[in-house]
Amino acid sequence: MSRMPFPEIGTHRDLVMTRLRELKLKDTDWKGGRASMFMFKANDEVSRLGQDAFVEYFNENALGATSAFPSVRTMEKEVVQMALDLFGAPQTARGYMTTGGTESIIAAVQTCRNWSRVQRGTPTHRGNIVAFETVHPAFDKAARLMDLEIRRVPMDPWTEPVVSALDAAIDIDTIMLVGSAPNYPYGSIDPIAELGELAERRGIWLHVDACVGGYLAPFARQIGRTIPQFDFSIAGVSSLSADLHKYGFCPKPASTVLYRTAEKAAHQMFDVDVWPSGRFVTTTIVGTRPAGGVAAAWAMIHFLGAQGYRQIAGELMSSIDAYLDGLKTIEGVRIVGKPDLAVVSFTADEVDMIRVAGKLSGKGWLPGLIRKPTGIHRMMSMLHAASNQQFIEDLREAISAVGVRQKQP
Ligand SMILES: *Cc1c(COP(=O)(O)O)cnc(C)c1O
Repeated sequence: MSRMPFPEIGTHRDLVMTRLRELKLKDTDWKGGRASMFMFKANDEVSRLGQDAFVEYFNENALGATSAFPSVRTMEKEVVQMALDLFGAPQTARGYMTTGGTESIIAAVQTCRNWSRVQRGTPTHRGNIVAFETVHPAFDKAARLMDLEIRRVPMDPWTEPVVSALDAAIDIDTIMLVGSAPNYPYGSIDPIAELGELAERRGIWLHVDACVGGYLAPFARQIGRTIPQFDFSIAGVSSLSADLHKYGFCPKPASTVLYRTAEKAAHQMFDVDVWPSGRFVTTTIVGTRPAGGVAAAWAMIHFLGAQGYRQIAGELMSSIDAYLDGLKTIEGVRIVGKPDLAVVSFTADEVDMIRVAGKLSGKGWLPGLIRKPTGIHRMMSMLHAASNQQFIEDLREAISAVGVRQKQP
């Protein structure tokens, strides 16, 4: 394969734009609900507001929030305050905006690591993180970056999560226990209240990864859904991550990472005075980052308010109900675990689900996969509502084409 040369001369902008649009044609039809992950939508009005607010701050750099762009600083502070309010955080709590779940998680792990080292008085202590195996790989990424050990404890999606197994994995070097609300593979909220008790009993930091569900769960509860407690209302919770660019329906990149106390939050600060340019202070892992993400999140929360988010939660959860009902009409299909929100995995007994997924891909769907059990995973938003019926029909056809697996002799 020959390498593309760096072009000597420029190309007319119209041609460049045309080529961009041509390139896009190869992508999954996410607007038609064909992508099972990556994209989220509430409705057109919400998408437009997000886009307009982002474009308003298209050029500004959130790295300069404390100097050049006080407006960005103000919006960032207010987004964090509104998030703290939403998640029942005490007045002592503090937080930061980041560019996404991964950054929020890396930041939380680093903050916990730094705080733990100070607590222990051992500045080189190598800690470990304990979580169910369903925890997001962003924790492994964080662990690798900081040379921490991560201990993944098995979870059986068909039975209640075994918190005592987490307890057994904790030792003297454990610095963080993680619960997911919900976990990505099965869409179920870990027993955070029990995890909180465990964290308090063992004296360790509990982080709640509410990246995918954080901005949906409170509103789903407010409209009468049964959603287990997962936030700062549980005393043992030290920190929580929640992504605005997922079910907050904000443009990427936008996430929040929150801490129960200002004292813990302070350990996220990066403050050095080491080079000829003087002091360098950031609260994020990244440096330059789009202020558009901050402005759009601020605008979105004000635009929708809790009332708007409840309305969206109502519509979304109804569409999920219809989707679950549809899945249940297909013989052999079983919902994996107990999805609490909008992430749903399913399998079918005695059917090769990888082949089923292959057939669905052939029809333009991009199904997510899980492997324990082998099944199909979809993270649903209003992008999917209109095509769910079509998905169910294509799935029914794919399952019947693949057929029931021959029993091994
Ligand atoms: C999406 C997700 C993350 C990572 O978030 P990014 O914004 O993709 O970096 C972390 N945890 C869970 C449970 C997630 O679903």
